[in-house]
Formats: sequence, C-alpha cells, structure tokens
Amino acid sequence: MKLRSYLLIANGISIAVILIFLIVSYVKMLLSLDVVIWLSGVTLGVGLLSFILHYFLTRPIETSIHRITLESKKIADGDFQGQLVPSGPIEFQMLAKQFNEMSRKLDESFNQLRSSESSRRELVENISHDLRTPLASIQSFVEALQDDVIKDDTTFQRYLTTIRVETGKLSGLINDLFQLSRLQSGVELFEPEPYHMDNIILEKIQSHLLQLEEKKLEIKVEMSDSLPSVAIMPAKLKRALSNLLQNAIRYSPEGGLISVTVSEFGNDMVRVSIADQGEGIRESEQELIFERLYRTDKSRNRESGGAGLGLAIAKSIIDLHGGSIGVESVYGKGSCFWFTVPQYVVK
Ligand code: ADP
Repeated sequence: MKLRSYLLIANGISIAVILIFLIVSYVKMLLSLDVVIWLSGVTLGVGLLSFILHYFLTRPIETSIHRITLESKKIADGDFQGQLVPSGPIEFQMLAKQFNEMSRKLDESFNQLRSSESSRRELVENISHDLRTPLASIQSFVEALQDDVIKDDTTFQRYLTTIRVETGKLSGLINDLFQLSRLQSGVELFEPEPYHMDNIILEKIQSHLLQLEEKKLEIKVEMSDSLPSVAIMPAKLKRALSNLLQNAIRYSPEGGLISVTVSEFGNDMVRVSIADQGEGIRESEQELIFERLYRTDKSRNRESGGAGLGLAIAKSIIDLHGGSIGVESVYGKGSCFWFTVPQYVVK
C-alpha cells in the first residue's frame, strides 16, 4: 500500500471514530431531533473538510518520496550526476541533502577507482615495455652467438659486453621496481639514526666523479660549518641523493655547473638542493615527474634516460623521513631539485 493511502485511511478511521462518539453524545443529550440532525450535519461536514485537507497536505510527502525513489533508482543504475532540490517537510529536505552528498561521494570514489584502474593499466604497459626492450636485445645477441656466425674475437666480446650491459639494466629496473613497491606499500619502517649530511654529500659526489668528468661538469658544494646532524636512514637517503645527482648529471649540458647547497631549514629541518643548467622542466610537468614511470621524454628511449622511477623512489624516501621534496625549474635554463629531512634531536 502507498504511504499516502495509508495516511489517508488512518486519518479517515480516526475521523470516523470521533464522529461516531460525537453523534452518540448528541443523541444522549436529549436534544430535539432538529438540533441533533443539524449538529451531526455540521460534524460530518467538518470531518469531511478535515479529510480533504489531509488529502492535500500529504501531497508534498508523496512527491518528496517519489523524487527520492527516482534518484535512488538512478544511483542504482550508476548515474551519480543527479541533484535533488530539497523541498517538502524538513525531514525530507535533510534526506535530500544527505542524498546529494552521498551521490557526490559515490561519484568521487568511482572516478578515483576508474583513474587508478587506468593508471594501473598504464603502469603495467610501461613496465612491460621497459622489460621487453633489454630482453629482446639480450635474446637477439644470444641467438647470434648460438648461431656461431661471429668468428672474430672482438665482435664476440662486444656482443658479450652488450648482453652484460642489458642484463645490468634489467636487474637495475627490477630492483628499482621492488624498492618502490616496498616504499609505497608502507612496509618500510622509519628507523633513523643521527648522521652528518656532509658525509653523505661528499660520498655521493665521490661515487659520481667518473660521470662528472666524462661530461666535464663542474660541481660546487656550499654548506655551513655548523650544520646540525640529521635523523635519517643513511642507506635510503644516499639512494635519494644519488637519484637526484644522477639526473642532474644526465640532463646537464657538457661543461655545465652543478651546485649542491645544504642549509638549515626552519627550526627542525635541513634542506639540500641540487641545481643544474640542464634543459629544465615545463611548469605543467613539474609535479608529474615525481610519479612513477613518468618521463618528460615520451619516446621512452632508455638511452636518453632511465625508466622514470628515480624521482618516485626519491620522493617515497623523503616522505618516509617526514620531509618534503620539490623542484624549481625554468624551462630551457635549468632545474633545482630540493628536499628537506629532519634534524636530529637529542632526547
Ligand atoms: P628517469 O630515470 O627517466 O630520469 P626520473 O624519475 O629520475 O626518471 O625523472 C623523471 C623525469 O623527470 C625524467 O624523465 C626527466 O624528463 C625529468 N627530469 C628529472 N630530473 C631532471 C633534471 N635535472 N633536468 C631535467 N629534467 C629532469
């Protein structure tokens, strides 16, 4: 039975009971027949009027319920765009507002789900591409060696070197993916120890000396003598720094200058920045480059760069330390990558 019919029947029954009691009372009052008939007539009329008023006054309830029913049907069909206009009794207005809020949240969640599904697909495609390229190259060189077509020792050695280089790339990529997945899944715990930032900077520059020399790059380091100790996980931070330094070298022009600056930041952080004179990064891409597998060079040529995991790993490491990471860059002029890590506080 519809709610409105139910309300009308309930109202009809209560009016009928009141009328019966009134009419019986009139009869018992020993009034003249005319008066009883007149009073009963008026009472019946008022009862009827009340019923009619009730009929019209319950209409907004029916309309509101009807609209909410239609809206829930739309939601059930996956359409979250509809907006109920709050009207009718106050409870229904509140219900309509809550309904709109619920549709908006459902819409948001579904959009997130769709975009994470498509970025997952994109991720799998990119990883497959990055794994396939060195694998295909290894396969073709191994086949050439197996076919025994290479007779001279120099070519033989060159083929072996290529296989070794490609295998190295493959294992580096798998290692990066493993690291990133551990960092982003939150299984890595933050277990810091007091450390001196200057040690890490000098060690990392030392390990990149060969590449710096190869590109004839000049490196300038600026840090104050009274730098406080930092609370970090040294191996992880070395990794983050190495990725930034590697990029600065990779994207710098030959003979360029790389400036590394370390300074206190606020009361409780230390800031490290690495500036290069490379190609720079467009403003629209400055946030995206910290996403995994994002490369500004869409041709994805691994000769000109990595797989696009370096900055995502660096960001996850800095996030783990409770610091921030970012870039300031002018396209065509150079980039300055920076990050902050907490100072060590003696307890
Ligand atoms: P990749 O291994 O491809 O360098 P990263 O995650 O380290 O991956 O960097 C992502 C992208 O950010 C790079 O493909 C490059 O386009 C851009 N990028 C990173 N560092 C620099 C830099 N110092 N100068 C210019 N572009 C950079």
